[in-house]
This record gives sequence, C-alpha cells and structure tokens, in this order.
Amino acid sequence: MKKLLLSLLFITSSVSASWTNALYQALFVQSLARNVECYINVQTKLDTHYKKIEHEKMLAFAKKECQEVAADKEIHFYVGDGHHFGMNNGNLAIARGDNAIIIMPDYYALLEQVFNKEVLTQQDEGTLDIFRFILQHEVGHLINNDQRSGVICYLSVTIAKMLLFELSKESFNFTGSRLASFLTLNLIGTYIQSKLLWKEQEYRADRGIKTKAAVAGGKQFCKNLITLKKSNEQQYWMELLNWTHPTSEDRLKRLEARAC
Ligand SMILES: [Zn+2]
Repeated sequence: MKKLLLSLLFITSSVSASWTNALYQALFVQSLARNVECYINVQTKLDTHYKKIEHEKMLAFAKKECQEVAADKEIHFYVGDGHHFGMNNGNLAIARGDNAIIIMPDYYALLEQVFNKEVLTQQDEGTLDIFRFILQHEVGHLINNDQRSGVICYLSVTIAKMLLFELSKESFNFTGSRLASFLTLNLIGTYIQSKLLWKEQEYRADRGIKTKAAVAGGKQFCKNLITLKKSNEQQYWMELLNWTHPTSEDRLKRLEARAC
C-alpha cells in the first residue's frame, strides 16, 4: 500500500505541481493528526480496547514496584494489543497518558503463569526481576510525561518539515523533486527526534529505576536480547532499525555502570 502511494506521488509530481504540493502537505498533517489523536484519546482507547488487569497477585506486585519510583502516583494497569496506540507487540509494555501501563498480551500470559505458581524456580525469580525492571522503567515514562513531550516534539518537527517543504519548492524543480524533498525531510525529522528525544527518554527512564532487583532484571533483559539477536536475524534487524530505542548493548553498558 505504501509503495503504491509513493509510486502514485512520483507520477503525479510531474503532472501538477500545486496539486502535488497540497497532497504532500496533507500527508504531513495526517501523520501528525494520528499522533495527536493517540494522545488526546488515551482514556477512550483504554476503555474501548484494553482490559484492566485484575490478577490480584500480579496487581499487588506491579503497584509495589511502581511505588518504588513514584510513591504517591496511582497507576492503572491494562492488558491488550499495542497497535491501538501505533505500537507493535515487540514491546513488552507501554506507558500511556498520565497513569496507564499496558502489558502486551503474550507477556501478560507468561507473567500469569508465574504468578499462578505456588513455588517459584530460579528462572521464575529472574522473570520477576525483569518485570520489576519493565514496571519501574515504564513508570519513569509516566512521571517524565514522555508521551506529551513526544507529541510536542512531533508537532514542532512537522511544522518545520512543512515550512522547509514549501521553501524547497523554489530550489528544486525536476521530476520527482517533491517526492525526494518529502522523503528527505521525513528522514531528517525522524533522525532528529530519535537522537534528541526518543532515545534520551529511554535512557532517562532506565536511570530512574530504583531497586537493585530491578537493575539486575534490566541487565538480564538486555543480555537476553543480545543472545536472541545472535540467533535471530529478524530480532537483529528490528533492533538495528529501531529509531525509538537504544541498542541492548548500549542500555546494558549504562546499567552496568550504575553503583547498584
Ligand atoms: Zn521505554
């Protein structure tokens, strides 16, 4: 579908300059609108597409871990598919709005198994430490208001892209130049957001982790991903092309440099 759209834009760019211009500007706006919509409609989306976690043991554990980072904050925990917020299920959990942490369905199923056990193995304890890390990291995103900063940054970058796109009209005038400008500006915009915001938000949420067990869980989580990358090519490329998250090696290095 995307390829088809791009081919269409390339062809039309040689047909009518002003018409194509308007179409590209509309695409900038549309992508911004999608982002803003996800932010404005957090509660509606949560109520419509997600289930509140009711597993008592898991809930008590999650609340306690989040209080380690934000003692007075009331967090609501949900389970459901990430795509309603434009995320894939490669994430284990996501933080949205002011106080919601969403656990992805596959990860929830794994945790449920562990929390239903009477006696835990060493591996289960490791799984819980990773969960501690995930929770303390996600609550960091909430107290840092990362979704809001993301939207503000996206808005600024989009306005800059639209202005530059308009200006580039004068400088470049060859067949396909509109498409080239559009793609280049998108690439630069994504690169800037990745470097200045998204990856910084991840480092900051990692730095906010409070307990020794959560840090141990974080290190294990990164080591697991590094091992997985060696045997799984898809995982390797997914991480390499991930604009929003630093590499596992990078995160591990920072966690290992911590005092606790
Ligand atoms: Zn994160």
